[in-house]
Amino acid sequence: MSRPRKVHVKSFGCQMNVYDSHRMADTLAPAGYRETAQPEDADLVILNTCHIREKAVEKVYSEIGRIRALKDQAAAQGRPMMIAVAGCVAQAEGREIIRRAGVVDLVVGSQNYHRLPEMLARAAKGEKVVDTDFPVEDKFAQLPAPQREATRRRGVSSFVTVQEGCDKFCTFCVVPYTRGAEVSRPVAQIVAEVERLAEAGVREVTLIGQNVNAYHGEGEDGVPSSLGKLLRRLARVPSIDRLRYTTSHPCDMDDDLVSAHGELDALMPYVHLPVQSGSDRVLAAMNRKHTRAGYLEAIARLRAARPDLAFSSDFIVGFPGETEQDFRDTLTLVDDVGYASAFSFMYSPRPGTPAAEMDGQVPQQEKAERLQRLQAAITRQQRAFNAGFAGRTLDVLLEKPGKLPGQLVGRSPYLQAVQVMAPASLTGEIARVTVTEIGSNSLFGALSDETDAPQLAAAGA
Ligand code: SF4
Repeated sequence: MSRPRKVHVKSFGCQMNVYDSHRMADTLAPAGYRETAQPEDADLVILNTCHIREKAVEKVYSEIGRIRALKDQAAAQGRPMMIAVAGCVAQAEGREIIRRAGVVDLVVGSQNYHRLPEMLARAAKGEKVVDTDFPVEDKFAQLPAPQREATRRRGVSSFVTVQEGCDKFCTFCVVPYTRGAEVSRPVAQIVAEVERLAEAGVREVTLIGQNVNAYHGEGEDGVPSSLGKLLRRLARVPSIDRLRYTTSHPCDMDDDLVSAHGELDALMPYVHLPVQSGSDRVLAAMNRKHTRAGYLEAIARLRAARPDLAFSSDFIVGFPGETEQDFRDTLTLVDDVGYASAFSFMYSPRPGTPAAEMDGQVPQQEKAERLQRLQAAITRQQRAFNAGFAGRTLDVLLEKPGKLPGQLVGRSPYLQAVQVMAPASLTGEIARVTVTEIGSNSLFGALSDETDAPQLAAAGA
Protein backbone atom coordinates (compact mmCIF):
# COMPACT_ATOMS: atom_id res chain seq x y z
CA MET A 1 0.00 0.00 0.00
CA SER A 2 1.39 3.40 -0.88
CA ARG A 3 2.24 5.77 1.96
CA PRO A 4 -0.18 8.73 2.30
CA ARG A 5 1.42 11.96 1.16
CA LYS A 6 2.03 14.63 3.75
CA VAL A 7 2.10 18.41 3.56
CA HIS A 8 3.68 20.78 6.06
CA VAL A 9 2.56 24.41 5.78
CA LYS A 10 4.68 26.91 7.67
CA SER A 11 2.84 30.16 8.18
CA PHE A 12 4.50 33.54 8.69
CA GLY A 13 2.84 36.83 9.56
CA CYS A 14 -0.78 37.67 10.14
CA GLN A 15 -3.98 35.72 10.77
CA MET A 16 -4.86 35.97 7.10
CA ASN A 17 -1.86 33.80 6.35
CA VAL A 18 -2.88 31.32 9.06
CA TYR A 19 -6.29 31.10 7.39
CA ASP A 20 -4.74 30.72 3.94
CA SER A 21 -2.44 27.98 5.26
CA HIS A 22 -5.45 26.02 6.52
CA ARG A 23 -7.23 26.48 3.22
CA MET A 24 -4.13 25.33 1.28
CA ALA A 25 -4.12 22.13 3.35
CA ASP A 26 -7.87 21.74 2.70
CA THR A 27 -7.26 22.22 -1.04
CA LEU A 28 -4.67 19.46 -1.04
CA ALA A 29 -6.71 16.97 1.01
CA PRO A 30 -8.71 15.67 -1.99
CA ALA A 31 -5.35 15.05 -3.74
CA GLY A 32 -4.41 12.70 -0.86
CA TYR A 33 -2.27 15.05 1.25
CA ARG A 34 -2.53 14.97 5.04
CA GLU A 35 -1.14 17.74 7.23
CA THR A 36 1.96 17.10 9.30
CA ALA A 37 3.57 19.32 11.92
CA GLN A 38 7.02 17.84 11.07
CA PRO A 39 8.61 19.30 7.94
CA GLU A 40 11.12 16.41 7.82
CA ASP A 41 8.23 13.96 7.25
CA ALA A 42 6.63 16.00 4.53
CA ASP A 43 6.45 15.27 0.80
CA LEU A 44 5.55 18.91 0.27
CA VAL A 45 6.66 21.88 2.36
CA ILE A 46 4.83 25.15 1.75
CA LEU A 47 6.29 28.37 3.15
CA ASN A 48 3.39 30.78 3.40
CA THR A 49 5.29 34.04 3.58
CA CYS A 50 4.64 37.56 4.86
CA HIS A 51 6.04 40.78 3.42
CA ILE A 52 5.19 43.15 6.25
CA ARG A 53 8.22 42.93 8.49
CA GLU A 54 11.71 44.20 7.81
CA LYS A 55 14.03 41.98 5.76
CA ALA A 56 11.07 39.71 4.98
CA VAL A 57 12.55 38.58 1.69
CA GLU A 58 15.95 37.67 3.15
CA LYS A 59 14.25 35.72 5.92
CA VAL A 60 12.40 33.66 3.33
CA TYR A 61 15.66 32.76 1.59
CA SER A 62 17.25 31.63 4.83
CA GLU A 63 14.16 29.53 5.60
CA ILE A 64 14.42 27.98 2.13
CA GLY A 65 18.04 27.12 3.00
CA ARG A 66 16.87 25.22 6.10
CA ILE A 67 14.20 23.31 4.16
CA ARG A 68 16.74 22.55 1.44
CA ALA A 69 18.74 20.48 3.94
CA LEU A 70 15.58 18.45 4.68
CA LYS A 71 14.95 18.01 0.98
CA ASP A 72 18.49 16.69 0.52
CA GLN A 73 18.01 14.23 3.41
CA ALA A 74 14.69 13.04 1.94
CA ALA A 75 16.32 12.59 -1.47
CA ALA A 76 19.10 10.50 0.14
CA GLN A 77 16.33 8.22 1.47
CA GLY A 78 14.83 7.96 -2.03
CA ARG A 79 11.86 10.16 -1.08
CA PRO A 80 11.26 13.23 -3.25
CA MET A 81 10.24 16.37 -1.38
CA MET A 82 8.79 19.43 -3.06
CA ILE A 83 9.14 23.00 -1.82
CA ALA A 84 6.54 25.67 -2.55
CA VAL A 85 6.71 29.34 -1.64
CA ALA A 86 3.33 31.03 -1.18
CA GLY A 87 1.95 34.28 0.22
CA CYS A 88 3.01 37.89 -0.09
CA VAL A 89 6.74 37.39 -0.73
CA ALA A 90 5.86 34.89 -3.46
CA GLN A 91 3.47 37.48 -4.90
CA ALA A 92 6.10 40.22 -4.84
CA GLU A 93 9.15 38.21 -5.97
CA GLY A 94 7.60 35.72 -8.41
CA ARG A 95 10.09 33.93 -10.64
CA GLU A 96 13.01 35.67 -8.91
CA ILE A 97 12.57 33.11 -6.10
CA ILE A 98 13.28 30.21 -8.47
CA ARG A 99 16.20 32.12 -9.97
CA ARG A 100 17.82 32.69 -6.57
CA ALA A 101 16.78 29.37 -5.00
CA GLY A 102 16.58 26.66 -7.66
CA VAL A 103 15.60 24.16 -4.98
CA VAL A 104 12.09 25.70 -4.93
CA ASP A 105 9.65 23.80 -7.13
CA LEU A 106 6.76 26.20 -7.25
CA VAL A 107 5.81 29.76 -6.39
CA VAL A 108 2.16 30.51 -5.77
CA GLY A 109 0.67 33.96 -5.19
CA SER A 110 -1.93 34.90 -2.62
CA GLN A 111 -4.82 34.71 -5.09
CA ASN A 112 -3.87 31.44 -6.76
CA TYR A 113 -3.55 28.71 -4.16
CA HIS A 114 -6.82 27.06 -5.18
CA ARG A 115 -4.80 25.90 -8.22
CA LEU A 116 -2.20 24.10 -6.09
CA PRO A 117 -3.16 20.52 -7.08
CA GLU A 118 -2.78 21.33 -10.76
CA MET A 119 0.49 23.22 -10.14
CA LEU A 120 1.87 20.29 -8.14
CA ALA A 121 1.07 17.88 -10.95
CA ARG A 122 3.11 20.06 -13.31
CA ALA A 123 5.96 20.42 -10.80
CA ALA A 124 6.05 16.62 -10.34
CA LYS A 125 7.00 16.37 -14.03
CA GLY A 126 9.99 18.61 -13.43
CA GLU A 127 8.52 21.97 -14.42
CA LYS A 128 9.34 25.01 -12.25
CA VAL A 129 5.88 26.50 -11.80
CA VAL A 130 5.20 30.16 -11.03
CA ASP A 131 1.64 31.45 -10.70
CA THR A 132 1.30 34.93 -9.26
CA ASP A 133 -1.38 36.43 -11.53
CA PHE A 134 -4.38 38.10 -9.95
CA PRO A 135 -6.91 35.75 -11.61
CA VAL A 136 -10.38 36.77 -12.67
CA GLU A 137 -12.02 33.73 -11.10
CA ASP A 138 -13.00 33.85 -7.44
CA LYS A 139 -10.41 31.86 -5.50
CA PHE A 140 -12.83 31.25 -2.62
CA ALA A 141 -15.50 29.79 -4.90
CA GLN A 142 -12.92 27.27 -6.17
CA LEU A 143 -11.73 26.11 -2.75
CA PRO A 144 -13.18 22.95 -1.24
CA ALA A 145 -15.20 23.32 1.98
CA PRO A 146 -13.12 23.24 5.20
CA GLN A 147 -12.21 19.64 6.04
CA ARG A 148 -14.21 18.43 9.04
CA GLU A 149 -11.41 16.46 10.73
CA ALA A 150 -8.81 19.13 10.11
CA THR A 151 -11.18 21.78 11.50
CA ARG A 152 -11.64 19.71 14.67
CA ARG A 153 -7.87 19.48 15.14
CA ARG A 154 -7.51 23.24 14.64
CA GLY A 155 -9.76 24.01 17.61
CA VAL A 156 -12.94 25.81 18.58
CA SER A 157 -11.93 29.26 17.41
CA SER A 158 -11.48 29.83 13.71
CA PHE A 159 -10.56 32.60 11.29
CA VAL A 160 -12.61 33.17 8.16
CA THR A 161 -11.33 35.55 5.48
CA VAL A 162 -14.22 37.69 4.24
CA GLN A 163 -12.30 40.40 2.43
CA GLU A 164 -8.87 40.71 0.87
CA GLY A 165 -6.73 43.51 -0.45
CA CYS A 166 -6.77 47.22 0.22
CA ASP A 167 -7.50 50.40 -1.74
CA LYS A 168 -6.21 52.80 0.93
CA PHE A 169 -2.52 53.03 -0.09
CA CYS A 170 -1.01 54.15 3.21
CA THR A 171 2.43 55.34 2.19
CA PHE A 172 4.30 52.85 4.42
CA CYS A 173 2.39 49.70 3.47
CA VAL A 174 2.96 46.97 0.89
CA VAL A 175 -0.48 45.37 1.14
CA PRO A 176 -2.12 47.20 -1.80
CA TYR A 177 0.77 45.98 -3.98
CA THR A 178 1.00 42.39 -2.69
CA ARG A 179 -2.69 41.62 -2.10
CA GLY A 180 -4.22 43.89 -4.73
CA ALA A 181 -7.49 45.80 -4.71
CA GLU A 182 -10.27 45.20 -2.19
CA VAL A 183 -12.36 42.12 -2.91
CA SER A 184 -15.21 40.87 -0.69
CA ARG A 185 -16.66 37.37 -0.60
CA PRO A 186 -20.43 36.94 -1.06
CA VAL A 187 -22.45 36.55 2.15
CA ALA A 188 -23.89 33.15 1.14
CA GLN A 189 -20.37 31.73 0.66
CA ILE A 190 -19.27 32.97 4.07
CA VAL A 191 -22.43 31.69 5.79
CA ALA A 192 -21.91 28.24 4.23
CA GLU A 193 -18.30 28.16 5.47
CA VAL A 194 -19.24 29.29 8.97
CA GLU A 195 -22.06 26.70 9.14
CA ARG A 196 -19.58 24.03 8.16
CA LEU A 197 -17.15 25.19 10.85
CA ALA A 198 -19.97 25.19 13.43
CA GLU A 199 -20.85 21.59 12.51
CA ALA A 200 -17.21 20.65 13.17
CA GLY A 201 -17.35 22.18 16.68
CA VAL A 202 -16.18 25.77 16.14
CA ARG A 203 -17.79 28.20 18.62
CA GLU A 204 -15.96 31.43 17.81
CA VAL A 205 -15.30 32.94 14.39
CA THR A 206 -13.05 35.90 13.70
CA LEU A 207 -13.79 37.52 10.35
CA ILE A 208 -10.56 38.71 8.83
CA GLY A 209 -9.52 41.00 6.04
CA GLN A 210 -6.75 43.54 5.47
CA ASN A 211 -9.48 46.16 5.63
CA VAL A 212 -12.30 44.10 7.02
CA ASN A 213 -14.79 46.86 7.73
CA ALA A 214 -14.63 47.93 4.07
CA TYR A 215 -16.43 44.62 3.46
CA HIS A 216 -19.09 44.99 0.75
CA GLY A 217 -19.80 41.46 -0.48
CA GLU A 218 -22.95 40.51 -2.32
CA GLY A 219 -25.77 39.86 0.15
CA GLU A 220 -28.19 36.94 0.02
CA ASP A 221 -30.70 39.42 -1.47
CA GLY A 222 -28.27 40.37 -4.26
CA VAL A 223 -27.55 43.79 -2.73
CA PRO A 224 -24.04 44.62 -1.38
CA SER A 225 -23.87 43.89 2.33
CA SER A 226 -22.00 45.86 4.98
CA LEU A 227 -19.88 44.17 7.63
CA GLY A 228 -22.59 45.02 10.19
CA LYS A 229 -25.18 43.16 8.13
CA LEU A 230 -22.87 40.20 7.66
CA LEU A 231 -22.27 40.01 11.43
CA ARG A 232 -26.03 40.11 12.08
CA ARG A 233 -26.51 37.21 9.65
CA LEU A 234 -23.69 35.15 11.16
CA ALA A 235 -25.01 35.73 14.68
CA ARG A 236 -27.97 33.56 13.62
CA VAL A 237 -25.79 30.53 12.76
CA PRO A 238 -26.51 27.88 15.43
CA SER A 239 -23.59 27.09 17.78
CA ILE A 240 -21.59 30.18 16.81
CA ASP A 241 -21.51 31.98 20.16
CA ARG A 242 -18.78 34.48 19.51
CA LEU A 243 -17.94 36.75 16.60
CA ARG A 244 -14.96 39.05 16.18
CA TYR A 245 -13.46 40.92 13.23
CA THR A 246 -10.09 42.38 12.36
CA THR A 247 -8.39 44.54 10.98
CA SER A 248 -10.47 47.70 10.68
CA HIS A 249 -9.79 51.13 9.24
CA PRO A 250 -11.22 54.14 11.13
CA CYS A 251 -12.75 55.61 7.95
CA ASP A 252 -14.87 52.49 7.39
CA MET A 253 -16.39 52.38 10.87
CA ASP A 254 -19.93 53.06 9.64
CA ASP A 255 -23.07 53.52 11.79
CA ASP A 256 -24.37 50.09 10.90
CA LEU A 257 -21.27 48.39 12.25
CA VAL A 258 -21.19 50.62 15.32
CA SER A 259 -24.81 49.81 16.17
CA ALA A 260 -24.16 46.07 15.68
CA HIS A 261 -21.90 46.34 18.74
CA GLY A 262 -24.87 47.51 20.79
CA GLU A 263 -27.22 44.86 19.43
CA LEU A 264 -25.39 41.56 19.06
CA ASP A 265 -24.56 39.53 22.16
CA ALA A 266 -22.34 37.33 20.01
CA LEU A 267 -20.20 40.27 18.87
CA MET A 268 -17.37 40.37 21.39
CA PRO A 269 -16.56 43.69 23.09
CA TYR A 270 -13.07 44.10 21.66
CA VAL A 271 -12.08 46.09 18.58
CA HIS A 272 -8.66 46.36 16.99
CA LEU A 273 -8.63 49.81 15.40
CA PRO A 274 -5.21 50.87 14.12
CA VAL A 275 -4.40 54.58 14.30
CA GLN A 276 -0.62 54.52 13.58
CA SER A 277 -0.01 58.07 14.88
CA GLY A 278 -1.69 60.74 16.99
CA SER A 279 -0.35 63.61 14.89
CA ASP A 280 -2.46 65.00 12.04
CA ARG A 281 0.71 66.01 10.20
CA VAL A 282 2.06 62.46 10.30
CA LEU A 283 -1.34 60.93 9.52
CA ALA A 284 -1.47 63.09 6.37
CA ALA A 285 2.06 62.03 5.36
CA MET A 286 1.01 58.42 5.93
CA ASN A 287 -2.04 59.01 3.68
CA ARG A 288 -4.22 57.50 6.39
CA LYS A 289 -7.25 59.51 5.19
CA HIS A 290 -8.39 60.17 8.77
CA THR A 291 -7.43 62.72 11.39
CA ARG A 292 -6.79 62.32 15.10
CA ALA A 293 -10.22 63.85 15.79
CA GLY A 294 -11.88 61.48 13.31
CA TYR A 295 -10.29 58.50 15.02
CA LEU A 296 -11.31 59.66 18.49
CA GLU A 297 -14.81 60.25 17.20
CA ALA A 298 -14.99 56.65 15.91
CA ILE A 299 -13.89 55.41 19.35
CA ALA A 300 -16.54 57.59 21.05
CA ARG A 301 -19.31 56.31 18.76
CA LEU A 302 -18.31 52.71 19.45
CA ARG A 303 -18.19 53.31 23.21
CA ALA A 304 -21.61 54.98 23.10
CA ALA A 305 -23.00 51.82 21.44
CA ARG A 306 -21.23 49.41 23.80
CA PRO A 307 -19.69 51.06 26.88
CA ASP A 308 -17.52 48.10 27.89
CA LEU A 309 -15.71 47.91 24.53
CA ALA A 310 -11.98 47.33 24.83
CA PHE A 311 -9.65 48.67 22.16
CA SER A 312 -6.32 47.73 20.70
CA SER A 313 -4.35 49.49 17.99
CA ASP A 314 -1.24 49.58 15.84
CA PHE A 315 1.35 52.36 16.08
CA ILE A 316 4.34 53.29 13.97
CA VAL A 317 6.93 55.53 15.62
CA GLY A 318 9.62 57.46 13.78
CA PHE A 319 7.74 57.81 10.49
CA PRO A 320 9.73 60.10 8.14
CA GLY A 321 9.41 63.70 9.33
CA GLU A 322 7.98 62.76 12.76
CA THR A 323 9.09 65.39 15.29
CA GLU A 324 9.19 65.11 19.07
CA GLN A 325 5.92 67.09 19.15
CA ASP A 326 4.28 64.70 16.68
CA PHE A 327 5.35 61.81 18.87
CA ARG A 328 3.95 63.52 21.96
CA ASP A 329 0.66 63.82 20.11
CA THR A 330 0.71 60.03 19.82
CA LEU A 331 1.29 59.69 23.56
CA THR A 332 -1.63 62.00 24.36
CA LEU A 333 -3.86 60.05 21.98
CA VAL A 334 -2.95 56.87 23.88
CA ASP A 335 -3.96 58.66 27.10
CA ASP A 336 -7.22 59.83 25.54
CA VAL A 337 -8.28 56.37 24.34
CA GLY A 338 -7.06 54.02 27.07
CA TYR A 339 -6.10 50.79 25.31
CA ALA A 340 -6.43 47.20 26.49
CA SER A 341 -3.39 46.34 24.37
CA ALA A 342 -1.56 47.61 21.30
CA PHE A 343 1.16 46.70 18.82
CA SER A 344 3.88 49.25 18.17
CA PHE A 345 6.80 49.26 15.78
CA MET A 346 9.63 51.49 14.66
CA TYR A 347 9.12 52.69 11.11
CA SER A 348 11.27 50.80 8.64
CA PRO A 349 11.11 51.44 4.91
CA ARG A 350 9.48 48.86 2.66
CA PRO A 351 10.96 48.88 -0.84
CA GLY A 352 8.51 50.18 -3.44
CA THR A 353 6.39 52.19 -0.98
CA PRO A 354 6.27 56.03 -1.18
CA ALA A 355 7.47 56.52 2.41
CA ALA A 356 10.71 54.67 1.67
CA GLU A 357 11.68 57.61 -0.58
CA MET A 358 10.60 60.39 1.80
CA ASP A 359 12.97 62.95 3.26
CA GLY A 360 13.34 63.29 7.00
CA GLN A 361 14.05 59.66 7.92
CA VAL A 362 14.32 59.62 11.72
CA PRO A 363 17.63 58.34 13.19
CA GLN A 364 17.45 54.79 14.54
CA GLN A 365 18.35 55.81 18.10
CA GLU A 366 15.53 58.35 18.23
CA LYS A 367 13.05 55.81 16.90
CA ALA A 368 14.16 53.26 19.50
CA GLU A 369 13.84 55.78 22.32
CA ARG A 370 10.33 56.81 21.21
CA LEU A 371 9.27 53.20 20.88
CA GLN A 372 10.38 52.52 24.42
CA ARG A 373 8.35 55.46 25.75
CA LEU A 374 5.27 54.45 23.80
CA GLN A 375 5.51 50.83 24.88
CA ALA A 376 5.88 51.85 28.51
CA ALA A 377 2.64 53.87 28.23
CA ILE A 378 0.80 50.99 26.53
CA THR A 379 2.05 48.47 29.11
CA ARG A 380 0.78 50.73 31.93
CA GLN A 381 -2.63 50.85 30.29
CA GLN A 382 -2.72 47.12 29.64
CA ARG A 383 -1.89 46.42 33.29
CA ALA A 384 -4.57 48.84 34.48
CA PHE A 385 -7.08 47.27 32.13
CA ASN A 386 -6.33 43.74 33.34
CA ALA A 387 -6.23 44.79 37.01
CA GLY A 388 -9.85 45.94 36.63
CA PHE A 389 -10.85 42.27 36.29
CA ALA A 390 -9.62 41.03 39.69
CA GLY A 391 -12.46 39.17 41.41
CA ARG A 392 -14.81 39.50 38.43
CA THR A 393 -16.56 36.53 36.86
CA LEU A 394 -16.27 36.27 33.08
CA ASP A 395 -17.37 33.97 30.28
CA VAL A 396 -14.29 32.16 29.04
CA LEU A 397 -14.23 30.04 25.88
CA LEU A 398 -11.95 27.18 26.90
CA GLU A 399 -9.80 26.38 23.90
CA LYS A 400 -6.95 24.01 24.70
CA PRO A 401 -4.70 22.54 27.40
CA GLY A 402 -2.82 25.13 29.46
CA LYS A 403 0.81 24.97 30.55
CA LEU A 404 0.11 23.00 33.74
CA PRO A 405 -1.47 19.53 33.99
CA GLY A 406 -5.22 19.86 34.61
CA GLN A 407 -5.26 23.40 33.27
CA LEU A 408 -7.14 24.77 30.26
CA VAL A 409 -6.54 28.08 28.57
CA GLY A 410 -9.23 30.15 26.97
CA ARG A 411 -10.18 33.68 26.02
CA SER A 412 -12.32 36.23 27.80
CA PRO A 413 -14.75 38.36 25.76
CA TYR A 414 -11.99 41.03 25.81
CA LEU A 415 -9.51 38.61 24.19
CA GLN A 416 -7.45 38.18 27.36
CA ALA A 417 -5.87 34.74 27.76
CA VAL A 418 -7.32 33.09 30.88
CA GLN A 419 -5.71 30.07 32.54
CA VAL A 420 -8.09 27.95 34.61
CA MET A 421 -7.93 24.56 36.34
CA ALA A 422 -10.67 22.64 34.55
CA PRO A 423 -11.30 19.12 33.21
CA ALA A 424 -10.33 18.51 29.59
CA SER A 425 -13.99 17.62 28.92
CA LEU A 426 -14.78 21.35 29.12
CA THR A 427 -12.63 22.13 26.07
CA GLY A 428 -14.83 23.96 23.60
CA GLU A 429 -17.26 25.12 26.29
CA ILE A 430 -17.89 28.64 27.52
CA ALA A 431 -17.37 28.51 31.27
CA ARG A 432 -18.02 31.07 34.01
CA VAL A 433 -14.61 31.84 35.50
CA THR A 434 -13.81 34.06 38.48
CA VAL A 435 -10.52 35.90 38.07
CA THR A 436 -8.25 35.13 41.02
CA GLU A 437 -4.90 36.50 39.85
CA ILE A 438 -3.62 38.95 37.25
CA GLY A 439 -0.49 37.84 35.40
CA SER A 440 1.63 39.94 33.06
CA ASN A 441 0.27 38.28 29.92
CA SER A 442 -2.77 36.40 31.12
CA LEU A 443 -5.43 36.18 33.80
CA PHE A 444 -5.75 33.21 36.15
CA GLY A 445 -9.14 32.05 37.38
CA ALA A 446 -11.31 29.36 38.90
CA LEU A 447 -14.51 27.79 37.58
CA SER A 448 -17.55 29.45 39.07
CA ASP A 449 -21.35 29.08 39.16
CA GLU A 450 -21.85 32.75 39.87
CA THR A 451 -23.58 35.13 37.56
CA ASP A 452 -22.04 38.53 37.11
CA ALA A 453 -23.85 41.72 36.23
CA PRO A 454 -22.20 43.42 33.25
CA GLN A 455 -19.60 45.91 34.40
CA LEU A 456 -17.61 48.49 32.57
CA ALA A 457 -14.15 47.37 31.66
CA ALA A 458 -11.74 49.88 33.13
CA ALA A 459 -9.81 50.41 29.89
CA GLY A 460 -6.83 52.58 30.56
CA ALA A 461 -8.14 53.69 33.90
S1 SF4 B 1 -5.30 50.51 5.35
FE1 SF4 B 1 -4.00 48.93 6.28
S2 SF4 B 1 -3.66 47.41 4.64
FE2 SF4 B 1 -4.46 49.26 3.65
S3 SF4 B 1 -2.62 50.38 2.99
FE3 SF4 B 1 -3.18 51.18 5.04
S4 SF4 B 1 -1.99 49.92 6.50
FE4 SF4 B 1 -1.96 48.85 4.52
